[in-house]
Amino acid sequence: MSNEFKRDGSHLAYCPPVEKWEDWVELDPEAWPRRVEKHYSLVPTICFNCESACGLLAYVDKESGQVAKFEGNPMHPASRGRLCAKGPATINQIHDPNRVLYPMKRSGERGAGKWARTSWEEVLETFGARIRKAIQEERGEEVMYHVGRPGHDFIMERTLQAWGIDGHNSHTNVCSSSARLGYLLWHYADRPSPDHANARFILLLSAHLESGHYFNPHAQRIIDGKMAGAKLAVMDPRLSNTASMADYWMPTYPGTEAAVLLAMAKVILDENRFDAKFVKNWTNWEDLEVDGFRAKGQSFERLIEVLKNHYAQFTPEYAEQESGVKADVIIKTAREIATAGSRFASHLWRGSASGNLGGWQPARALMLLHVLTGSVGTEGGHNLNAWNKFVPKTFKVPPPQKRWNELLYPQEWPLCTHEMSFLLPHFLKEGRGRIEAYFTRVFNPVWTYPDGFSWIEMLRDEEKVGLHAALTPTWSETAWFADYVLPMGLSSERHDLMSQESYAGKWIGFRQPVNRVLRERAGEKFEYTYQANPGEVWEEDEFWINLSWAIDPDGAMGIRQYFESPYRPGQKLTVDEYYGWIFENSVPGLPETAKKEGLTPLQYMRKYGAFEITRDVYKQNEKAVAPADLAGSKVEANGVVTKDGKPVGVMVEDKAVTGYNTPSRKLELFSKTMADWKWPEFKLPEYYRSHIHRSAQGASMGHPGEDFDPKYTPVVEWPKDSRGDVFTLLPIFRLPNLIHTRSGNAKFLYEISHKNPLWVNPVDAKRLGGVRTGDLMKVHTEIGYFVLHAWVTEGLTPGVVACSHHLGRWRINKDEQVERMSSAWVDLKEVAKGQWKMRQLESVSPYESVDKDTKRVWWSDAGVHQDITFPVHPDPVSGMHCWHQMVRVEKAGSDDRYGDIFVDTNLSFAVYQRWKALARPAPGPGGLRRPLWIPRVVRPEEAAYYIKK
Ligand code: SF4
Repeated sequence: MSNEFKRDGSHLAYCPPVEKWEDWVELDPEAWPRRVEKHYSLVPTICFNCESACGLLAYVDKESGQVAKFEGNPMHPASRGRLCAKGPATINQIHDPNRVLYPMKRSGERGAGKWARTSWEEVLETFGARIRKAIQEERGEEVMYHVGRPGHDFIMERTLQAWGIDGHNSHTNVCSSSARLGYLLWHYADRPSPDHANARFILLLSAHLESGHYFNPHAQRIIDGKMAGAKLAVMDPRLSNTASMADYWMPTYPGTEAAVLLAMAKVILDENRFDAKFVKNWTNWEDLEVDGFRAKGQSFERLIEVLKNHYAQFTPEYAEQESGVKADVIIKTAREIATAGSRFASHLWRGSASGNLGGWQPARALMLLHVLTGSVGTEGGHNLNAWNKFVPKTFKVPPPQKRWNELLYPQEWPLCTHEMSFLLPHFLKEGRGRIEAYFTRVFNPVWTYPDGFSWIEMLRDEEKVGLHAALTPTWSETAWFADYVLPMGLSSERHDLMSQESYAGKWIGFRQPVNRVLRERAGEKFEYTYQANPGEVWEEDEFWINLSWAIDPDGAMGIRQYFESPYRPGQKLTVDEYYGWIFENSVPGLPETAKKEGLTPLQYMRKYGAFEITRDVYKQNEKAVAPADLAGSKVEANGVVTKDGKPVGVMVEDKAVTGYNTPSRKLELFSKTMADWKWPEFKLPEYYRSHIHRSAQGASMGHPGEDFDPKYTPVVEWPKDSRGDVFTLLPIFRLPNLIHTRSGNAKFLYEISHKNPLWVNPVDAKRLGGVRTGDLMKVHTEIGYFVLHAWVTEGLTPGVVACSHHLGRWRINKDEQVERMSSAWVDLKEVAKGQWKMRQLESVSPYESVDKDTKRVWWSDAGVHQDITFPVHPDPVSGMHCWHQMVRVEKAGSDDRYGDIFVDTNLSFAVYQRWKALARPAPGPGGLRRPLWIPRVVRPEEAAYYIKK
């Protein structure tokens, strides 16, 4: 059986055929051993538990009208009917007895945990009035939407631009910004779309097979590739499940990955095993200026000599010394990559990129391997997310906003790919602004961000944050500090459009509220989705449409027009009309395919839940420039084809082709942008030592290590007589069956994983005085400490300790407005200004509820919250929070208890200042805030890019 997606579902051994979805019959497992038939309606939707957007099939019991289970949608081209554990666990989330069912308004002090039910009308009126006033008084930047996991595409950009504000904030700078910068400097697209299924060699930096970006869709294709003979190498200090499946496990000392990658590049260059034609045609090598050499007018052969010299220091032996990976393994894998050639695929997302100072360099170094092997845009190679992710057009698009919000994109980090969101509390503390209306959406910064106590201090301060609504399906540590908690739907309770670059193809998926869809099929009518959902759980699409009408009720502000029906002038837009228009007008091939079945495009998407647009995705850079763009264009001296001053393509072998969206329209081996923006030392892909390099271990104890650049010693000094020992902490590896705070109300998942011990290598366990699994350890960060159990394991590089970032939920309330099976009830105190102590009072235990399983909860641990004890570490170039850190580890003392936490936010502000000083602020050339060519979320008009004198 082939794994290739087929529309009849024959890629699966078994799946319910579409023609039976309206009345699918299965035996009732609860009636066993009697054979009792159950009738279900199967409705496709999209999983909301991670960014992969796999297709779900909701099995709705025809008798009760309730969703009974979720399985995979075989008609979804990316997930192909398969799911990870988190997909089916959606059933726990929708039936969670503790979920938020009605809009709630606080009835006591902020953070006191007292709530009263309110109405959606009151919410819309309150926020509508506050936002209207702010916009009318030209304080639009005081309105901020801050998203954790979007789970949708496009509608927020439209909403905020319709309001005319620069107000989009995201979590991306604690997630993936560094990797994104490394990729975009090469080819504008900030994410890879590896064609794992057709690769001959796959290199993964961190645990992508089990928990990485586009987890289930990628994992399937990595296994497809392996089954077809591809070799797999994994660079990860941890023996992850992925590493255990690999042909090569390369346990790099964290932060040294770029040294290994450049050593591989050196092997390929020295052995002349690179694709010379590709490098010559498709890089901007003629722009290169390095080591006193200018490539302009020189031969390509000379360029190669210069590159060989430039990377001469990266011998495999040097890389071994830095990383701990054996030189012969580096040579062997480099040769295998060269042999794979254009069928070399890779992925780098979190891990080394998100942990380290300079974490964007490994992505750049990795791309150098792709460029040398000519594996960019190829079958089995590295493709661009922009080629495989579908971006629809919508009707009546609002113009870009005129203003620039410095709370989002401050001048210190002009090259940050995303908003500097994790510094928001510090920006407000510095008096850079305030927030009038703040929306957090599926976003829990108090828990998922570093320095969560600074977030609590910000959120409880009504001067700094005027009004805060948490839009969330679940209670959370952040929601407790909101003024409103607004229940938003889960996978089967909302509309969203999703597309991801999960394989060599382009697709869209449609999330839909299954109860509403089924009841409307049966003839009922609903004005709003919350009327069909449990309680009054709503969906954001309708919320934003209605809020926009509340801000501009008569249309005088020019906002309402963007939320009016494209079919019924002047009437309020419905979700059917919004998506119906997109499906009719914007998705190539969908109207024709739907018509063949006698369906409208919307009906088609409601029936199947997904649509594959094309598999013609390779080598988009080689596509000829469209005749309309070519007419009246001219070729610049560097070969770039321009029309009306804007680049439209590039000349390659005398043909005008599309190229890449970079200034040179080629892959930028040489980054003039880095040189122009004050980082000339990083014009080429380089390696430099992270803040957690081995030589920093002395520095962190107050004695800077040899070879360590002291300006990158951003650590608070510990007392010289301190006990314990210094390690690098890896705090960001994922557990495959949990996802941050989103899975806290999934009993199936917490039954499997509910503890996050400290991984300690046996060598280190000995060094610490004979630590054994289960011993209580105290981990000191720069700003505080946390206490947890040890797990002694050989699956980790010595000198490094590790702790998963998915566990350690806590709750202030004991029983109400909480997630009881995944959190510890704590005593939280500010013992002195900025000094916070948390102690667990009671952990997880069985309890009575409408769900009989809550009485059967057998686990009694919720883990320990480590992130809240971390200071912020903004990378001076990418702006990404550098998660890895030096910590001091010791056996816990007699006063320490499991789960104890202490933090001093005065210190966290000092650490912030120290890292901020590393940045090289705007203006750049021409008085710009940031390069015009680098993408920006919700891009303002061009004039806003220039700093006003
Ligand atoms: S990978 Fe798992 S959690 Fe993510 S969308 Fe797919 S099924 Fe859901």
